[in-house]
Amino acid sequence: MDFLTELHALLGRYAITDEKEIAPYIIDDRRRYIGDAIAVALPANHDEVVAVLKLTEKYQIPVVPQSGNTSNVGGSVPDKNSGALVLSLKRMRRVLSVDPVNDTIHAEAGVTLQELQEAAKAHDRLFPLTLASQGSAAVGGLLANNAGGTQVLRYGMTRDLTLGYRAVLVDGREINELNALRKNNSGYDLRDLLIGSEGTLAVITEAVLKLYPRPKDTRALILSLADLKSVETVFNAFNDQMHAEMTAFELLSRPTLAKLAQQCPDVRQPEIEPTEWSVLIEFSFFDQNEANDTLVESILEELIEKGHVLDGVISQSENDVNDFWRIREMIPPAHKKAGGNVKHDIAVPRSRLVEFIETVCSELQERYEWLEPSVFGHFGDGNLHFNMGVKPELDQKIVFAHEKDIHAWVHQRVLDFGGTISAEHGIGQLKRETMRIAKDPVALEMMRAIKRVFDPNGRLNPNRLLPK
Ligand SMILES: Cc1cc2nc3c(=O)[nH]c(=O)nc-3n(C[C@H](O)[C@H](O)[C@H](O)COP(=O)(O)OP(=O)(O)OC[C@H]3O[C@@H](n4cnc5c(N)ncnc54)[C@H](O)[C@@H]3O)c2cc1C
Repeated sequence: MDFLTELHALLGRYAITDEKEIAPYIIDDRRRYIGDAIAVALPANHDEVVAVLKLTEKYQIPVVPQSGNTSNVGGSVPDKNSGALVLSLKRMRRVLSVDPVNDTIHAEAGVTLQELQEAAKAHDRLFPLTLASQGSAAVGGLLANNAGGTQVLRYGMTRDLTLGYRAVLVDGREINELNALRKNNSGYDLRDLLIGSEGTLAVITEAVLKLYPRPKDTRALILSLADLKSVETVFNAFNDQMHAEMTAFELLSRPTLAKLAQQCPDVRQPEIEPTEWSVLIEFSFFDQNEANDTLVESILEELIEKGHVLDGVISQSENDVNDFWRIREMIPPAHKKAGGNVKHDIAVPRSRLVEFIETVCSELQERYEWLEPSVFGHFGDGNLHFNMGVKPELDQKIVFAHEKDIHAWVHQRVLDFGGTISAEHGIGQLKRETMRIAKDPVALEMMRAIKRVFDPNGRLNPNRLLPK
């Protein structure tokens, strides 16, 4: 018997060895990383994950866990000539229970974010995590990457939304901490260690997640602002007076919206006077009350009077809210369609964000006269998609010839500003070597030590997250 024969005996047709069938599992969403795998295993449930991992332990086969395969950092696909097994959780699609009294949902690792949201909605509950990749990104990957998205401002990241988990170690031993408790001070928190571990410590098979009451009313605004400094002013004005209701504050820039209009003309953009910087703001209310609108409008009037807001539109219906969000969600696909750009998922303290954008964009434009920044994202969280492209009339591929230098420059400046090289997408293979300068050396040493405890032979998602 050999590994593949035993894998076939275990999973039947769900042990894939045909090259063509393996292909979609070894290339990432952005088509930037293509690896190799000896097979793909598609277990149906937790017990089958245990059995597969015991088998890989017997033959010492490297394992790459994968859920939706939407990683933006090449974290979910193996290296070339890896000899690895891709362990895809995507058949594990059951929502195991919803408890609307405890406000919790228990789901398997392959349940997509959209399926989670729909299951919650069916019980008049909200699962607030929201990402443009929610049709594919799934529980296992959301936890393993500690995903963020557009509602972090109010509800936090995946770590803040997770109560319990079930996971399998690389040798097939399982950890069952499937509790649905909001308070649980009982020693080292392995849950929070596995969240954000990017498949390098254990395979997550199930999770218990928090639910919330559904808002009764939502308003979204798109505002054209006078300048970048006004973004901060507008944020502060709403944050001071409507902190509890403000569920999102997203920054949009003119080149970003221009590319969207060019690549996706079917996405309806509001007929307002465009400026260099605009924002998409969302408020969620738990009552339907005219006073909600009055407050939004009075803050807005003052901002218009002071010259910070030049034009704008307020949603009048749920359809409008959805249309506004479609603008934001279609930005990454539009960029991909246009040939991609050099991406950075950075965060700096919100108080330094404006200075960071102004300084680093002008530094980069001085270095590369063809460069066009395409900055957008979660301003309210201090997190930007600080992407660098090429002016529209030029060949978009130029930027990739300078990718390494641009990454190095941006990441060093992020660190100078007290920020992080990864706010929500993780490290994967893209930023692995940058960890050397981005992380405290002793913290890095402790991370390596933890890795050795969980995975002594380095078989789980090898060559990811930790620098060589
Ligand atoms: C269009 C688009 C928009 C996006 N927007 C956002 C955004 O706003 N915010 C954000 O945070 N991210 C965003 N992402 C990135 C991505 O969707 C998230 O990181 C998501 O959490 C990945 O989930 P996934 O199921 O696709 O995981 P995968 O891509 O399959 O895997 C991601 C990582 O988790 C590991 N992993 C996967 N499943 C498991 C498991 N069961 N157990 C252990 N490890 C596992 C993998 O090995 C890999 O390291 C976006 C991606 C795209 C393509």
